[in-house]
Amino acid sequence: MKSQEITKRWVDFFVSKGHTAVPSASLVSSDPSLLFTVAGMVPFIPYLTAREEAPYARATSVQKCIRTGDIEEVGKTARHGTFFQMCGNFSFGDYFKEDAIKFAWELLTTPVDAGGYGLPPELLWVTVYEEDDEAKDLWLKNTGVPASRIQRMGKADNYWHTGQPGPAGPCSEIYYDRGPDYGVEGGPIADENRYVEIWNLVFMQYQIDNVRSKDDFDIVGELPKKNIDTGLGMERLAMILQGVENMYETDQVRPVIDKAAALSGKEYTSAETVDDPHHTDDVRMRVVGDHIRSALMLIADGVTPSNEGRGYVLRRLIRRAVRSMRLLGVEKACLPDLLPASRDAMKGVYPVVETDFDRISRIAYAEEKAFLRTIASGTARLEDAVNESKAAGRPLSGADAFTLHDTYGFPIDLTLEMAEEAGLKVDEPEFRKLMLEQRKRAQADAKGKKGAHADVSAFQELLSEGETVFTGYTELEGESRV
Ligand code: ATP
Ligand code: MG
Ligand code: MG
Ligand code: MG
Repeated sequence: MKSQEITKRWVDFFVSKGHTAVPSASLVSSDPSLLFTVAGMVPFIPYLTAREEAPYARATSVQKCIRTGDIEEVGKTARHGTFFQMCGNFSFGDYFKEDAIKFAWELLTTPVDAGGYGLPPELLWVTVYEEDDEAKDLWLKNTGVPASRIQRMGKADNYWHTGQPGPAGPCSEIYYDRGPDYGVEGGPIADENRYVEIWNLVFMQYQIDNVRSKDDFDIVGELPKKNIDTGLGMERLAMILQGVENMYETDQVRPVIDKAAALSGKEYTSAETVDDPHHTDDVRMRVVGDHIRSALMLIADGVTPSNEGRGYVLRRLIRRAVRSMRLLGVEKACLPDLLPASRDAMKGVYPVVETDFDRISRIAYAEEKAFLRTIASGTARLEDAVNESKAAGRPLSGADAFTLHDTYGFPIDLTLEMAEEAGLKVDEPEFRKLMLEQRKRAQADAKGKKGAHADVSAFQELLSEGETVFTGYTELEGESRV
C-alpha cells in the first residue's frame, strides 16, 4: 500500500467516526517555544490545555514533523526519520480511552479490502502504563489482544506530560512484531527493533504539579475535560505494509536511495547489522534519503540555511547528506540529482514541492556549493597541517583539528578520514577537550538567552526530549557540527 493510500484511509476512517479532517500545519511550529512541529498534537495545544475552546470535539490530521533529536538514529535503526508524518486522532473532552482503543484496533486490523490496514492481530503487542489497569481491561474487553501480549511500562516510557504543571496522563502504545529475524522474543520490553512501535495513544486525564523530573511529579487531580491525543508513524506503517526492511525503503524515500546508489556506483543491500560489510554504505545511503527529503520539506515550509536555529538544522541536514555522498565516493555536487528524486516521490502528497521547486532547489543547490567550497578551502589548510605534523613526526594536533572545525567549518570526521589517508593520526582527545570548553562557553551564553524565553509555553521541555527552541544553540556548538 502506497503512502498516499495509507494517509487517505486514515483520514477517511476517522472522518467516518465523526472527526473533522484538519490539514497539516507547517513544520515551522506556531508555538514559539518549539523549533519545529514535533508531533501531531502541536497545532492543537491550545485546545488540549483548554486555553482556547476547540471548534470541533474530534479532529484528525496527518501532520508533517521534524525531530532533530533523532538525527543520530537515522539509517541505523529501521524507524527514525528526521522528517516523518504523524497520523493522529484527537478528542477534546469528547470520547476517551475506550473509543480510542477501539478505533485503533479496528483501523489496524480491518482487512485491506474493507478499508483498513489488514495487520494480523496476532502480530500486535500493546503496552500500558504500569498502574493503568483500566486501559489494560479495555484492551482485553474490546480487542483480541490476549493478556500475554500486553506489557506494562513505567513513567519514563508510558506517561505523557509537559514538564510543567498542567495536563498529563498515561499512554498506551501499539507495537508490531517483525518476527524472529529481527530480534529476540519477549515483546517490546525485550526488543524494540523486532517489535516496532507504531502508535501511541495518550490519555490526558490528570492535573499534575511539582514536576521534579520526567518520572517524578505529583498528581493533584483529574482534568474536568479529558482528552485523547494519538500519533501513528505513517512511515513505520508503510514499512510494514510495503514489506520493506526499514522506513527509508518506503515509496517516499527509496527513490533517493536508488539515486545515491546510482551516483556512487555502490549497491544498496538493505544490510541491517554492523557485522555486514555493506552496513556502513547502506547507512550512508539511508542518511542521504532521509536528509534530502527533510531538507526539501523544510525549505518548502520557508526555512533557509543559516547559522542558528531552524536554519542551522537545515544546514546540518544538507551538509550531512553531502558528506555522506562524499564518503560514498562522490565528490561532485549531488543535490541536482538527489533533490528532484525526492521531489518526485513527495509531490503526489505535497504538490508545493513541485510548484515551488525553482525556489527550493536554488536554495538547496547554493548551500551544497557553499559547503563544497568549505571543503575545498579546508582541504588546503588540512594539507598544510598534515605536512607540518609529518615533518615534526607527531600526530595532527587537537588544536589544528579544532581550528579546521571552528574556522573552516570542516567536520571532524572529514579531518579524521583525510588525515588517515595521509597516514596520520589525529589527537582526538585534545580536540574533544577543546570542543567541550567551547561548548561550556556557549552554554553559559545560552543560559543568558534562555532567560529571555522563560515565560514561553509550558510545552517546551518534555514534549519530545531535545526538541526545544534551545536545541539550536547546543547543536550549533555541538561536536557533530555536520
Ligand atoms: P521511538 O520510541 O520509536 O523513538 P517515540 O516513542 O519517540 O518513538 P512518539 O513520541 O510516541 O514516538 O510518537 C508517536 C509515533 O510517531 C510513534 O509511535 C512512531 O510511530 C512515530 N515516530 C516517532 N518518532 C519518529 C521518527 N523519528 N521517525 C518516524 N516515525 C516516528
Ligand atoms: Mg523517539
Ligand atoms: Mg517510544
Ligand atoms: Mg512512543
